[in-house]
Amino acid sequence: MPEGRVGLQERPRAPRAAEGPRAAFEIGSTADKAANILVITVPLILLGVFASQVWNEALDWRDLLILAITYFGYGAGITVGFHRLFTHRSFKTGPATRVFFAILGSMALEGPVIEWVSYHRKHHTFSDQEGDPHSPHAGHGDGLRGALRGLFHAHCGWVMFSEEDSEEERYARDLRADPLLRFVDRTFLIWGAGLGMLIPFGLGVALHGSLVGGLRGLLWGGVVRMILLHHSTFSINSICHFFGRQRFDTHDESRNVWWLVPFTFGESWHNNHHAFPTSARHGLGRYQFDPSMVVIRLLEMTGLAYDVVRISPERQATKLLEAR
Ligand SMILES: [Zn+2]
Ligand SMILES: [Zn+2]
Repeated sequence: MPEGRVGLQERPRAPRAAEGPRAAFEIGSTADKAANILVITVPLILLGVFASQVWNEALDWRDLLILAITYFGYGAGITVGFHRLFTHRSFKTGPATRVFFAILGSMALEGPVIEWVSYHRKHHTFSDQEGDPHSPHAGHGDGLRGALRGLFHAHCGWVMFSEEDSEEERYARDLRADPLLRFVDRTFLIWGAGLGMLIPFGLGVALHGSLVGGLRGLLWGGVVRMILLHHSTFSINSICHFFGRQRFDTHDESRNVWWLVPFTFGESWHNNHHAFPTSARHGLGRYQFDPSMVVIRLLEMTGLAYDVVRISPERQATKLLEAR
């Protein structure tokens, strides 16, 4: 199946961004390694310090369980649902499963499904060129200053400050034609701010046996989960277009970042993904674990998913960088 469907039209070959922001962070350099370590450790250390301060007061294993359930559950709504099913049509499902994933992804509060898909298809169309809504490279200047500006824009600056239109009519006409998807899209806040918060609250009440326990569930499964999951998605746009390794020739700066795999459910095999956007599996290498693909495999085995797009080794070989 060609990668060119769902509006991801071919664009002219552009010169690789050999110069520019990345020049300050060559792969494997000390700056590259230090940035990788800082980005992953600092937020986790801060969260760890906060968690230890409030341990038993406002946090115990029950709260961590609620955090894990909501993080992995809603996260799969984004990676399996919004991304692989709706954006790239990596597999097909019946209407009930489509609605289930549209609601599950909406509960992550990353925006209504049709808008999310439009921005992401736009990203693939212009990938690291002008028009890409969240490239860390296009139009941020050179040197360390340009690199940091680009990373901030790609990570969350574009969400907060960009006025770029999602152009849904152009990039997601197929989803707009689906009345069920349109309904979930229009009622986004009911799922994101409503059901998505009610579930951790309810789990908190059930596990702690009190209303205060419900508020603890809301804190860890609502607020902390949302912050962590947003940063997980943001890091695909920033870190996975800046640090890490390229396996395939994709004419952009997409990269595979192995240490983000557990936090991103396998989405950080991002260079593989840009090489074969419709592939249901992003971890194309032999030892590249891809948790989202495990979910899709389970759906396929139970008959809930079908026509799963797989890329043959021969097709993969045509784009391998070492083959050039
Ligand atoms: Zn990308
Ligand atoms: Zn994608």
